[in-house]
Amino acid sequence: MKVLVVGSGGREHALVWKIAQSSKVKKVYCVPGNAGIAREAECADIKADDIWGLAQFAKEKKVDVTVVGPEAPLVSGIVDRFQREGLKVFGPKKQAAALEGSKAFSKMMMKSAGVPSGRFKIVSELSSAKDYVESVGAPIVVKASGLAAGKGVVVCQTVEEAHRAIDMIMKERVFGAAGDSVVIEEKLSGEEASILAFMDGHTIYALESTQDHKAIFDGDKGPNTGGMGAYCPAPVVTERMMRQIERDVFVPIAHATNRDGCPYRGILYAGVMMTEEGPKVLEFNVRFGDPETQPIMMRLKTDIMEPIMATIDETLSDVSLEWDPRAAVCVVMAAGGYPGDYAKGKEITGIEEAEALGDVKVFHAGTAM
Ligand code: AMP
Repeated sequence: MKVLVVGSGGREHALVWKIAQSSKVKKVYCVPGNAGIAREAECADIKADDIWGLAQFAKEKKVDVTVVGPEAPLVSGIVDRFQREGLKVFGPKKQAAALEGSKAFSKMMMKSAGVPSGRFKIVSELSSAKDYVESVGAPIVVKASGLAAGKGVVVCQTVEEAHRAIDMIMKERVFGAAGDSVVIEEKLSGEEASILAFMDGHTIYALESTQDHKAIFDGDKGPNTGGMGAYCPAPVVTERMMRQIERDVFVPIAHATNRDGCPYRGILYAGVMMTEEGPKVLEFNVRFGDPETQPIMMRLKTDIMEPIMATIDETLSDVSLEWDPRAAVCVVMAAGGYPGDYAKGKEITGIEEAEALGDVKVFHAGTAM
């Protein structure tokens, strides 16, 4: 089997690394990939959002199945396009991918399906957004509805901060059209966890729990990043809580997406806050998490192509995943200054020494030779 992975981050490196170990796979491509991925897969210079270019590539190379890493191509309908062209692809179709592409859609879906999450209001006018904030008070969370590369959420301690966030999103349009409407949401407190599950429209298969760490410095200090690391499993998610999340989050979403004619097939990622009233959903992502995928792949013993193909073929009920009982942790090393402006092009050394430690794998994100 020939497999194409779309993306260029640490998540895609982990997927490529795991997919290449499959006995069913004889060739892995990754576009655009990065320097680390290029050691394990053939890379090509096509952008992850160039859906037409990706489809041409998949046909030219006679790719049997494509695995999409990032959300942007899923939200713009890569799966619908590939399927129309007769190409096998792993991920949800455009309508279901709106669970991540539109926070407004996602909140409405949660409400109609009865999924526990924070109280909210969707507004598309600046003055009504500010009026609503005035009426409910702070703390409060302001979210650009559309895709904003993980930066569209502002947790506000005061009403003034919330007004500033609304101005930034709706007036200055820092996130462009993603700020056409905003979701204003009750601030939840508790510990967060990421729960990922394979879904094929019939069966839900949850993976081991993970927790990621967003603040740049140790001790949860400093600005939020795209993720400084993650570990698996997350002890905050007990066996009982896991069953509760399956029952109260994944089952109703599977049902509601089926009911609405957009059966969910792919990985669904629920960002969950463990509140005193039980788990509540902060967000859905429609793909593997980054960096959660890295420790998940380190622990997964089963051939990853099994659940991927079973999800596409709707035979997930036949699959059983086996896990290494040991915990795994992913630590992100970033250039000084990140997530603000930072120097690019710095040399990275010591990779061979790190990997020689055994049970250690270095995944690359955005590197070049
Ligand atoms: P999201 O992209 O919606 O997951 O938001 C990114 C981060 O913002 C989450 O991982 C939380 O840390 C925080 N966040 C989002 N929504 C809320 C909320 N309702 N209450 C508290 N924190 C939130």
